[in-house]
Amino acid sequence: MGASCAYHLALAGARDVVLLEREDYFGQGATGRCAGGVRYQFATEVNVRLSIASLGMIERFKEETGQDPSYRQCGYLFVLTNPDDVPAFEANVAMQRRLGVDVEWMSGDEVRRRVPVMRFDDALAGTYHAKDGLADPNSIVMGYIDAAKRLGVKAMTGVEVSGFRLKDGRIAAVETSAGTINCDQVINAAGPWAGLVARMAGVEVPIVPVRRQMLTTTPLPNLPHDFPFVIDFAQSLYFHREGEGILTGMSNPAEDPGFDQSIDAEWEIVAIQAAAERLPMLENAGRLSHWAGLYEVTRDAHPIFGRTPVEGLWIVAGFSGHGFMHGPISGKLMAEFVLQGESKTVDVSQLDLARFAEGRLIREYNVV
Ligand SMILES: Cc1cc2nc3c(=O)[nH]c(=O)nc-3n(C[C@H](O)[C@H](O)[C@H](O)COP(=O)(O)OP(=O)(O)OC[C@H]3O[C@@H](n4cnc5c(N)ncnc54)[C@H](O)[C@@H]3O)c2cc1C
Repeated sequence: MGASCAYHLALAGARDVVLLEREDYFGQGATGRCAGGVRYQFATEVNVRLSIASLGMIERFKEETGQDPSYRQCGYLFVLTNPDDVPAFEANVAMQRRLGVDVEWMSGDEVRRRVPVMRFDDALAGTYHAKDGLADPNSIVMGYIDAAKRLGVKAMTGVEVSGFRLKDGRIAAVETSAGTINCDQVINAAGPWAGLVARMAGVEVPIVPVRRQMLTTTPLPNLPHDFPFVIDFAQSLYFHREGEGILTGMSNPAEDPGFDQSIDAEWEIVAIQAAAERLPMLENAGRLSHWAGLYEVTRDAHPIFGRTPVEGLWIVAGFSGHGFMHGPISGKLMAEFVLQGESKTVDVSQLDLARFAEGRLIREYNVV
């Protein structure tokens, strides 16, 4: 989010843009730990509209920034085994098609034929969209940062934001580990840590960090080349091809909120067993790597865009585990907010911070 904001601000003509990252490298937060999935298949219009805008930007990313984002349209297959999910997905697909997203509805048999290497005897139905897929998080982050630098942005690592100076209720400066920066506009794009950063200015932002983890396997020679991104929706269990092997993860519904990013070894065993039941060839695979990262969860699983009660302090955070794919458009929207006062390309006015206090939450169903 930060990289995209900095680039789009500079592209729109803003001068004196500074991007601050406390780690030694950019993209070590949630973005660098994510699964790289990009999809149009969401349950709310605003999320589908964000995807239409953002994935189009990923398609044109190399042309725009010079960096190849490794966008691979392998398709996303949501597999439904819980009868309650079927009508909800039917309604979602109708809405997605109305917005021009050509999602395919599949019977249980069609699901089984699409992924014959998986065991889905209990599949009731599925949805498939061929243009969903994968992109490389590091390429997108560094593509934006390099392009932003060419436009004059100062992008700094190893600099931690520690506080804000306010004057008459307005932002007057940011305090950092490298000194004070006088400014009158700040975008809080601190991902899972955005609530902590907002609190430094006395603003409460309801974003909760929740650990999620995944692993990759050694090569699986029998894995078909057209293997899609598969989501066993009822179990929040997912698979996609990663090199010659598989990347798989399963969300632990009992995970307590917190900033711990160490691997939960017990949950890993639960997840591997569930994965091997769906994809039996995993019984012969080794683990190549594993890691954990933080989802940045809001109560309605939608992000927060725009103003805060402190004049000059903006926020773009809380994407609830599907924000990598919306990074490109979100930075553009934030540049519109800061420079023109409102979002133009996609109307995200309903995703403001005030919705939590005013009870205007809208629920996203397709959360993995
Ligand atoms: C396991 C996992 C799988 C995921 N899979 C997907 C997926 O397939 N597709 C998808 O679209 N999304 C996915 N996500 C979600 C996605 O990663 C996030 O929604 C997105 O990366 C959020 O981006 P961000 O820029 O808001 O946060 P981040 O990438 O976390 O960036 C915030 C940055 O702020 C820095 N920071 C924090 N505090 C300070 C401070 N005080 N001073 C200076 N810097 C600070 C952090 O170091 C960090 O680099 C996944 C997330 C996880 C954890």
